[in-house]
Amino acid sequence: MTGLSDSFQRPINYLRISVTDRCNLRCVYCMPPEGIKLMSHYDILSYEEIYTLVKVAAELGINRVRLTGGEPLVRAGLPELVRMIAGIDTIDDLSLTTNGILLAQYAADLKDAGLMRVNVSLDTLKPERFRQITRCGELKDTLEGIKAANEVDLTPVKINMVVMAGINDDEIIDFARKTIDDGWNVRFIEHMPVNGEDINVTRLVSVKEMRKQLESLGILEPFKIDKGGGPAKYFRFPGAKGTVGFITPVTEHFCYACNRLRLTADGKLRLCLLREDEIDLREPLRSGASVEELKELIVKATAAKPKGHLLAEGSVHKGRPFSQVGG
Ligand code: SAM
Repeated sequence: MTGLSDSFQRPINYLRISVTDRCNLRCVYCMPPEGIKLMSHYDILSYEEIYTLVKVAAELGINRVRLTGGEPLVRAGLPELVRMIAGIDTIDDLSLTTNGILLAQYAADLKDAGLMRVNVSLDTLKPERFRQITRCGELKDTLEGIKAANEVDLTPVKINMVVMAGINDDEIIDFARKTIDDGWNVRFIEHMPVNGEDINVTRLVSVKEMRKQLESLGILEPFKIDKGGGPAKYFRFPGAKGTVGFITPVTEHFCYACNRLRLTADGKLRLCLLREDEIDLREPLRSGASVEELKELIVKATAAKPKGHLLAEGSVHKGRPFSQVGG
């Protein structure tokens, strides 16, 4: 096998980078109302440092990169970083995960800089509920962001909806209708119990239950998508332009096929979203480690990637917040 792989022979070719721990929303399932203790300017990797690490990782076989956060678009000059990474020849998929609030403002610059596609997180189509879930956002901003992304062809635009019992599970049908009427590509995601939430009072709606609700709209036909190819399983309603995807981190985990590493905003290489195993790359980088030394650190860390997260066994995640590690 060429390229990076871990000790379970999983090929590793995908790096998700949290470019900032800051966010312009305070989603109820992601952050406490007061926000989280923010990292200092010193803690956060500079764009040059991120670029250096991506270049080294690319030489080892990473060819897919996603920028996330926190909210990546609150970091000043993000298109600059996009341009730097897009200039690395062997990166053939460069994408962004965003809440969409600032997307209308940046979509054209991001496209021009070489971004290929975006995923937009959106959990409700109701303005008042959007304010409640995000604690401070306006639905119209995200909808304008989605429109702008489509207009400049940052496609396929994938809409990620975290489905939560009693909070937005009554909108599954409305989102699915958007795949038929407006050609949206919607992915329904199971809510993961994080930040120490009690797994027994989880807001989980299983994909099985979601699919049951969707039966009233017709039969979902399996569908193969061209770009992305992550853990989602894709379907389409007959005649629909858009797709329906399902992501089952809780009821049917996909750790056996995990191909990811994460780079945290403060320069740690994190081996699993839901486990705390990390190695520091920032200090070696700042103390002048050579490319070969950085490669050695990445290869060694990758080999130690854990087999899987432990949600299915009832374990509760109590680690660093998603915004720091790149959810
Ligand atoms: N700010 C960006 C955004 O909103 O897309 C990127 C960071 S956000 C942490 C990344 C994704 O993690 C979002 O789609 C969010 O819905 C998802 N997420 C956060 N907490 C989650 C949870 N407990 N279960 C499932 N998904 C979660």
